[in-house]
Order: sequence, then C-alpha cells, then structure tokens
Amino acid sequence: MSNVIGGKGRKIAYFSMEIGLKKDIPTYSGGLGILAGDTIRASADLGLPFISVTLINNRGYFRQELDSAGRQTEHPQEWSPSDFMQLLSAEVTVRIQNKNVKVRAWLYEHRSLTQETVPVLFLDTDIEGNSLEDRQITYSLYGGDRRYRLKQEMVLGIGGVRMLKELGYSITKYHMNEGHSSLLVLELLRQNDISPSKVKELCVFTTHTPIESGHDVFSHDLVMELIGQNSDFEILKKYGGENQLNMTLLGLNLSNYVNGVAKRHRQISEQMFPGYKFNSITNGVHSYTWVCSHFRKLYDTYLPGWANEPELLVRVRSIPDNEIWDAHRLAKKELIDHVNIECGLDMEYDTLTIGFARRITEYKRPTLIFSDLKRLRKVNEAGKIQLVFAGKAHPRDIQGKQFIEKIFEYAEELKGEIKVAYLENYDMDLSLKIVSGVDVWLNTPKKPLEASGTSGMKAAHNGVVNFSVLDGWWIEGCVEGVTGYSIGPKPEVDKSPEQIEMMELDDLYNKLEYIMIPKYYNRKDEWVNLMNNSIEIIAYYFNSHRMMHRYVTEAYL
Ligand SMILES: *Cc1c(COP(=O)(O)O)cnc(C)c1O
Repeated sequence: MSNVIGGKGRKIAYFSMEIGLKKDIPTYSGGLGILAGDTIRASADLGLPFISVTLINNRGYFRQELDSAGRQTEHPQEWSPSDFMQLLSAEVTVRIQNKNVKVRAWLYEHRSLTQETVPVLFLDTDIEGNSLEDRQITYSLYGGDRRYRLKQEMVLGIGGVRMLKELGYSITKYHMNEGHSSLLVLELLRQNDISPSKVKELCVFTTHTPIESGHDVFSHDLVMELIGQNSDFEILKKYGGENQLNMTLLGLNLSNYVNGVAKRHRQISEQMFPGYKFNSITNGVHSYTWVCSHFRKLYDTYLPGWANEPELLVRVRSIPDNEIWDAHRLAKKELIDHVNIECGLDMEYDTLTIGFARRITEYKRPTLIFSDLKRLRKVNEAGKIQLVFAGKAHPRDIQGKQFIEKIFEYAEELKGEIKVAYLENYDMDLSLKIVSGVDVWLNTPKKPLEASGTSGMKAAHNGVVNFSVLDGWWIEGCVEGVTGYSIGPKPEVDKSPEQIEMMELDDLYNKLEYIMIPKYYNRKDEWVNLMNNSIEIIAYYFNSHRMMHRYVTEAYL
C-alpha cells in the first residue's frame, strides 16, 4: 500500500498552474490555486494515489502594497523553495524556440492528518546552462506577456509529463486543472503512437471560468515561433483551433472526461463550446483547512473524526447553541482586533460585520454594495453595520485596481457613519481570518460569470451566513432564509442586465434592512439557527472530500 501511495506506483497526475498549499508558498493567485490545494489536501486525507505538478514561481504572484488612497503597488514575493522542499537530481529538457531548455523539479510532500502523503512537483528552469531569459520562465505566476505565458505552459505541460516519466511514475490519468497545462497532450501523443483515442483515455479536463479572457489563446505566429513549424504545430492546429491555439479546446478535444465546477457552470460551458458534452462536479473546500481554531475545538469535542469525515458536520445540532455563538465571537474578536490594528479603526465586536474578500476584478463587482449610498445609510440606521474588504487586483487589471481605489473613496465618504476596512495583501491566512470572523459573507458576481466560487463555502464552515447573488455554487447551496439569503432573481429569470441589477440592489438593501439586521440584533436565536444551518446543510456537502469522491468514481476510474 505505502508503495502505491508514497512510492512510484500508478498514480493520478494533477496539473495546475497555481497551487495554494500554504501562505508561505505564494504560488497561487485566487480560487483556482486554492482549489488545487484543497484537492491535494483531500486526496492525501483519502489516501488517493495522487501526484501534482506545477511551476516553482519563486518570485511568487506578488505582494500587494496599498497607499492611503488605495493605490496598489506590486512587489515580487521572493521565497526560498529549499525551506519547504527538496531539489531532485532528475533533469529533462523542453525545446523552446529551437533551444533545449533544462527543467528540474523540487519535491514537496504534503502530509495529511491521516499521515498519508501526496507529492507535489514544482518545475524550475532557473538552472545553470539555460539562458538568462529561459531561467526566468518559472519566476512569476501570471507574470510577463503572451510569449512568457506560452513558455510557462510548455514547461508545465510538456516538461511536466517528461519529468513524471523521468522519475519513474506510471500515470493512469492526467487531470488538467484548467487549460494552462493542455500542452501535456502533445507529449502524451508522442508517448502513445500519436493515437488520440489512447490519449483521450488518459485525460481529464476541468474548465473553471465562463470569462472569455480566462481561456488562454495564443496566435499561431507565436506558437510557430516557440514550438516550431513541425508536426506538433500541425497537431495543435488540428485539436486546438484552425486560426489560433485555444488551450481549452485542446484539452476538450483530447479528454474523455470533461467537467465544469458547478451545475450551472456546466450549462454555461456547453453554451460556450457547442458540440461538447460536459459533466459537472461542484467544487468543495478542505474542511479542516478552512475551519478556524475556535470551531475546530468545538468540532473536535462534539464531532470527533470530522476532519477526515466532514459529513459528520450534519450533526452540528449536537453542539449547544451558546457554544456555537461563543466560538464565533472569539473568531470575530480576532478579526476585529486585527482590523483595528492594521487600519487604525475602532470597529466594534457587537456590530453586524459584512465581509467581501476575493480577487478584485470587474465581474465580481466589489463596489456593488456602494451603488446607492442613501439606501446603504438607511440600512445602517436600521441597525449598525461595518464592512471588511480584502483582495488583490492582477497587475495588468487597471479596472480592478480602480475598484480598490473606489472602495477607499467610499470608506472616506462614509466616515463617521459606516466603518469600512480594506486589509492589505490578501492571502490564505487572511482569508481564513475574514471568512471566519465576519457575520455575513457577501458575494455579488455578475451572472453567469462565477463558475463556482468557494469562499462562501469556507464561511459556512465557520457558521458565517452567506448573502450572495444566485450564481455558481450558491444556486445549489441556497435555501432562502434557511442556509442564507439570495441577492437578485433566480438564474433562469430572463431580463435585461439593467433590470437584473436593479432587482439585485433591491434585495441587497431590503434584505439587510428588513430581514437580516432585525434577526441579528433582535432575534439572536434565529440568527444562531442560520449559523447552524450553514454548517449542517452547506459545510456537510460543499467540502473537498465529497468533491474528490466524485472525481474518483466519475473521472479517474
Ligand atoms: C478561497 C479563496 C479564494 C476564492 O474566493 P472566491 O470568492 O470563491 O472567488 C481566493 N483567494 C484566496 C486567498 C482564497 O482563500
């Protein structure tokens, strides 16, 4: 058994451009990377024969600095791989622009509470003998231009498959977590007599976004320049698009199992890629990782074994209500103290606190709640509220950066009335602090652009009440007034974007003013009931153990 799991037996290889293992390994930017981390953590818990491949990104994504006006500056986030992992002696090469680029790997061993391990290979081109330019290929996550990105994807896809082979792993499935690793099919075709049916049998592809720009596309000129005008180029034309290389198409065309990350996302994906059949496996989060210390203690006492059997959270009613409330108060105190130190505010422990933290980008509509300040002020008169924000905007997302500045402006405008905090440098640790420390978790994506979303699942694991637009996972998770509250109409309601936004704003302000605030301040027992329901109905189901059971039975076996 240990040979299969820890050794070099037959394995499922999981490829991801970003992986969120821990705060101090900053090779993730958002939900995609966190999901990859949770996938690895759950696979280890379950003892799955799993191995993961990514890039070392030793300059990280970036460290975010915000000035007093909310202007973002990015700094490299250098970290030292040798603090966490071991450099392997194996070396492979990938031919990029007519040069052999050497690739080596760092081995990180994720060990779960059950003492099972999952190896993670971090590919690295910063090797003597490579040109200066090639040494930088694995420096920065989502850095550089199209050329840089394609080189990274060649190293990840082609280099990754070669490295697994070089290390002696025998791989039964290659799971592409998004299209960044789709070039792995080129190497698999080579290893399998150029037989597409054999490669399809080996491949699983998961798409993660309905956003057009989230699907990597490269011009044929660039592909020809970096890959060469050879048989590979002909294969890419055949499977990845006649006019340009679309990495999603490439993955779709050479995988027997393809899925979206929520039921609604499956429908949207089938509309985006007509003629392709998608499955759906709704995302989940790794329960143990995303439960704060105060709730861990409670669950350990009342639901022993919950960490590796999160289904046990269905029995949350065996925990006395006052203990649920006390655990929440402790988590909230930690957050509020942190906010007050970091932002020089004097937020209060007893004020209804609303959280919003994620990648800051247009479709997430981070400023939606400020759309009508008059109504927001009226909400605040019904019962005091305070707001906690965090999130990075991609360095080239000018609009995203402007949203952060806008939030700072609103905070200034509301001074003396509604306290608004923006915490710098969002990462996994800060995420846990916020999703466990607020009372309400707000999510306002523009429909249907949120493929799944996972932060609301983390909030629910800590008894935090979801308040969200009906998109992604929340369509499946929301039972109105029972597991939380919806914002705006059901997904099937067909209205203009302007009408939908008006309905969303009505719900946003009205439900806060007339339903949530009265419950929170005047009917605490009902509020604690919502908290219980979040754990009993949401956390019980929307966890990565359930998700991995599905991947095993539907995609891997
Ligand atoms: C969970 C998490 C995300 C995903 O958040 P969504 O709101 O689901 O997009 C992004 N970044 C970090 C650091 C996270 O922990």
